[in-house]
Amino acid sequence: MQYPVVTTCAQCGAKNRIPARHLADTGRCGVCKTALSPVGAPIEVNTSAFDEVIRDARVPVLVDFWAAWCGPCRMVAPEVEALAREMAGKAIVLKVDTESEPELSSRFRIASIPNFMVFRNGKAVFQQPGAVARAQMRSWLEHAATQVG
Ligand SMILES: [Zn+2]
Repeated sequence: MQYPVVTTCAQCGAKNRIPARHLADTGRCGVCKTALSPVGAPIEVNTSAFDEVIRDARVPVLVDFWAAWCGPCRMVAPEVEALAREMAGKAIVLKVDTESEPELSSRFRIASIPNFMVFRNGKAVFQQPGAVARAQMRSWLEHAATQVG
């Protein structure tokens, strides 16, 4: 899924652009007012989209730093997708291609990939390199959700 996120209404087919602060909310179609589900898929972001989502998100954000040539990244990708589905409404999952966004990789000193970070209220609260099980990623997000500030 690309950013900005555009959701097609199942009822009337209208395309609704979802602002970063509402990615985890149940919205309403601008045309027919049908409920729109919170985003339940990883969102591919470039540097400016990353900054926007991290700044505006009102739920924890998991960021998957990856690259197409990285075997472990490709292996863990289905788990990241399943996690985004499971956590729809409670968390946002972003994917950063380290080949196309080297600025973000250097900003967060990403030395090896896959590399996962969790952000809460605009701040990095967790970082860990290496592929991990989905339950582990979910526990990072659930822990971040309980943190104050
Ligand atoms: Zn509609």
